[in-house]
Amino acid sequence: MHLPTKMRAAVLHGPRMLRIESVSVPQPAPDEVLVAVDVVGLCGSDVHCYTGERSMEYPMVLGHEITGRIVATGAEVQTRRLGERIVVEPNIPCGQCTLCTRKLGRICTHKQSIGLTRWGGLADYVAVPDRFAWSIPETLTLRDAATIEPTTVAVHALSHAQIASGATIAIVGCGGVGLLVAIVAIAQGYRVVAIEPNETRRRAVLAAGATCAFAARNAQEAQIIFEQAGVVAIFECAGLSITAQLCLDAAPQGSSIVLVGMGTEDVALNPLRFVRNELAMRGALIYEHPEDFARTIDLIVSGKLAPGSTAGPPQPLENLTTLLEAMEVGKLDVKPLITMRPA
Ligand SMILES: [Zn+2]
Ligand SMILES: [Zn+2]
Repeated sequence: MHLPTKMRAAVLHGPRMLRIESVSVPQPAPDEVLVAVDVVGLCGSDVHCYTGERSMEYPMVLGHEITGRIVATGAEVQTRRLGERIVVEPNIPCGQCTLCTRKLGRICTHKQSIGLTRWGGLADYVAVPDRFAWSIPETLTLRDAATIEPTTVAVHALSHAQIASGATIAIVGCGGVGLLVAIVAIAQGYRVVAIEPNETRRRAVLAAGATCAFAARNAQEAQIIFEQAGVVAIFECAGLSITAQLCLDAAPQGSSIVLVGMGTEDVALNPLRFVRNELAMRGALIYEHPEDFARTIDLIVSGKLAPGSTAGPPQPLENLTTLLEAMEVGKLDVKPLITMRPA
């Protein structure tokens, strides 16, 4: 296949300095493949990168929820992979450090992240390590394929919490991540109670099969809801310190709290309440390579999960800045997708 030398890329030069430019097509390293990008999903972390809240080296090409097709292979990669439809696992642990050997590659300090520490998928082409380009069937819908990466975050958070099947869990915050945790939890047989102030999002989580959804904003109200429903685990998915505090203050006896969102302010913990109620709290960051991606792809390909319902129709790259700014002010109800296919 003949490949061009130049491509379109949305290049971030600094906070809010995003320009669509013509840049060189990346050369895959010997253990990498070159992917012609099909669709890229946008999420909250892209917004934080765009605004500069999350620091990074510039220039950077964002985009980590990538699907596409392999169009070139590095010298060490099997050429039979050419033409494969793939989804990218964008976090690449070093595989060597003590954390990696403890199966904690997701928090590896030497981890590379496509679209964060190396150029991502908001471009016509992206180079990715061979083992992080997962083959997916041609029959998978574009939206299901494009939502595999964020769904893997939800799959990991749920398995990390080790809750007995059939139990009732609570989800606090039903934006992109919270809604996916709900979808995965319901597919795995959990009952879901949701806390979400936004009515559109409450409707979405109910449509996904949640048992009930409330707008409770203070801990007392939330605690009554959790106790009546028999909640055993609470997933904080709003990413705010105020909601993390609500989880701590409202957690019923013997329950655990899983922080998926990342509020930046401190929260207060009362040791007496925490110990007397034997609460537990843990963080769940992204996913572990390779088992979480393997599991998520299997769930979606086998038809047990259809997370694509959370995504909107693909939009052209020219709409990127507008979409990021709409996400920043919470104006979007669905996950935006960018298509890199020529019009
Ligand atoms: Zn994301
Ligand atoms: Zn490592």
